[in-house]
Amino acid sequence: MADATQQGLAARAAELRDQLAHHNKLYYEQDAPEVTDAQYDELLNQLRALEADHPELVTEDSPTQKVGGAPAGRFPQVEHLLPMISLANARNEDELRAWETRLHNRLGQEGITRENFEYVVEGKIDGLAISLIYRDGKLERGVTRGNGVIGEDVTANLLTMRDVPRELPTKSPPALFEARGEVYIKRSDFHELNEQRAEAGEATYANPRNTAAGSIRQLDVELTKSRPLSLWGYGVGALEGIAFENHSDELDQLREWGFPVNDFEVLSGVDEVAAACHRWEERREGLDYEIDGAVVKLNETDLMRRAGVAGREPRGAIAWKFPPLEETTTLLKIIWNVGRTGRLVPQALLDAVNVSGVTVQHATLHNEVDLIAKDIREGDEVIVTRAGDVIPRVVGPTPEAVKKKGRAELPVPPAKCPACDTPTEKVGDWTICPNRRGCPGQRFQHFKHFVSRAAMDIDGLGEKQVQQFLEWGWFESLADIYELASHRKELLEKPGYKEKSVDTLLASIEQSKQQPFWRVLFAIGIHGIGGVNAKNLAGRFGSIDAIAAATTEEIAETNGIGPILAENIAEQLAEPEEQELIERLRASGLQLIGDAPGSSEGPLKDKTFVLTGTLPNMTRDQARDLIEAAGGRVTSSVSKKTDYVVAGAEAGSKLEKAERLEISILDEDALKSLLAG
Ligand code: NAD
Repeated sequence: MADATQQGLAARAAELRDQLAHHNKLYYEQDAPEVTDAQYDELLNQLRALEADHPELVTEDSPTQKVGGAPAGRFPQVEHLLPMISLANARNEDELRAWETRLHNRLGQEGITRENFEYVVEGKIDGLAISLIYRDGKLERGVTRGNGVIGEDVTANLLTMRDVPRELPTKSPPALFEARGEVYIKRSDFHELNEQRAEAGEATYANPRNTAAGSIRQLDVELTKSRPLSLWGYGVGALEGIAFENHSDELDQLREWGFPVNDFEVLSGVDEVAAACHRWEERREGLDYEIDGAVVKLNETDLMRRAGVAGREPRGAIAWKFPPLEETTTLLKIIWNVGRTGRLVPQALLDAVNVSGVTVQHATLHNEVDLIAKDIREGDEVIVTRAGDVIPRVVGPTPEAVKKKGRAELPVPPAKCPACDTPTEKVGDWTICPNRRGCPGQRFQHFKHFVSRAAMDIDGLGEKQVQQFLEWGWFESLADIYELASHRKELLEKPGYKEKSVDTLLASIEQSKQQPFWRVLFAIGIHGIGGVNAKNLAGRFGSIDAIAAATTEEIAETNGIGPILAENIAEQLAEPEEQELIERLRASGLQLIGDAPGSSEGPLKDKTFVLTGTLPNMTRDQARDLIEAAGGRVTSSVSKKTDYVVAGAEAGSKLEKAERLEISILDEDALKSLLAG
């Protein structure tokens, strides 16, 4: 009987190992997981629990004992100088405290007793770990983590990234310096990338992590180059000719040598550590990059070494994992709306599900092509994510859903426009409402796009207000926004419009006239022009008149713009309605002339800025635009190369660093006078 139980347990362990190996392969080698991280972690935890109760079941190749997947063989394989291991997990404060107690006991056995240890707490960036080896200060190679012992040499791809230093900026570099960090994609960049892909009819990406991992492991360097990859350095590996007493010293050194290093805190004892982890969790939503937890590390490198390694995890560090940004639920219904460009856009009505603290019932399905490519059908069990974007998205059906018998038919867009009832038409892969100028649905989307943060960024003019102003007949053309002031009196008589909020709204409309030309170009919504193309066009032509006067061939010479898109642009700008719009916007004082950011000659040419804290009268985006319009560059971390740090309220470690490096610190007024030349 006992034997039978033992056999059953061994079989269960083997089954879990097989399943995990399968998911590891998809996740680490193909960057295309088919289950959520939470589902994967659940399997891993089951195996961990089984092995903890029955240590005789542990095998050398168990996923609990090694990291990652096998290097895929596409790239040269390199053995790491020091293994790149994983991190143990705590799912809550109790588990964090239990880990800390174990650590005290462990170090106590070594004769090291302290009331409190010193720790560093950092954000746990959700990307792909890499190792960068510098010999005598020069980058020799960059390698992925791989299976922790052997990784893939992806140096050429890493060299496409601006964040990766080619050389250490020091006269006396150490013989060997291994920097470690995470390659990731910013949320804003990811959003833009997906928008561009959706616009071009290409399948959208599931999340920033897999996209970053997939991009670094592309054989075509040009492809990697076209992806907006960023780096956070978070530690060092093998060293010769240099040593660090504390982990915080390693981070300072990385920063000084030009690696972007995220905020970190040095803290004493587990109470302070727990509070810092909670702070990271609170900050999570507002960050422009994804974190899946906070990392806690012993600060003293000697203690870290003496705490040792258990299996695949260092004992002196732990990751406090946050709730996942992905969940599964049922897709109840596909609802079709009309988009800005006339394409019909599918939206998901879901069986309400809690995704990391937010109830999600509606999610975007991006577009018709994506929907068909991913084979998403009503009634399917689907993966929903809030990763990489503020708007929840359906990633795709679960593997089980696809195999299920009796699935619904493939979704078909409606035969009539849901907003204006005009019969829809099929143009290429797309179903569109052809009523371009008359469809109220398209008009609403145009206004929504124009006022959005990424475009003219008009505060106080949200969906609700746009909808009302359309209903009241005040908004016909986008140019009517700049005549809203003429309705001030009437508006004050409407319910819900108080004097203060109306005046704030009118002021922010007025302020939007200062938005740079590329934003106006993006905002007016020419088919196929996203933020990137708008910047490229602005950079090449310098004014709306120059673009309108250009031939299709000349437009097609712009970076990122092909002949079809060029024809679109030329055609649309030649339409009388479009010309009238441009003239009215010009008369209202909008910027229809100007370079692309960073390319202008200006008082701040060649100057590098870092922004930190909250400024009294402008958002960071506004400050960035102004600096870039004046020829300056804005980077994310402070180094010796930084010329100015613009600091507002609650500026943190960047300000401290600037003070240490004696970099000029500006407040908002000082920035304004610098901008004025
Ligand atoms: P991990 O990602 O939980 O932790 C280790 C990694 O954290 C390091 O390798 C490093 O890349 C990263 N990291 C980020 N910020 C860091 C910082 N400041 N300091 C140090 N390290 C930092 O562990 P893992 O073993 O690499 O991966 C497991 C993760 O992958 C889990 O979230 C798991 O759910 C997921 N996974 C999912 C699937 C799937 O099929 N969905 C399959 C395999 C793994």
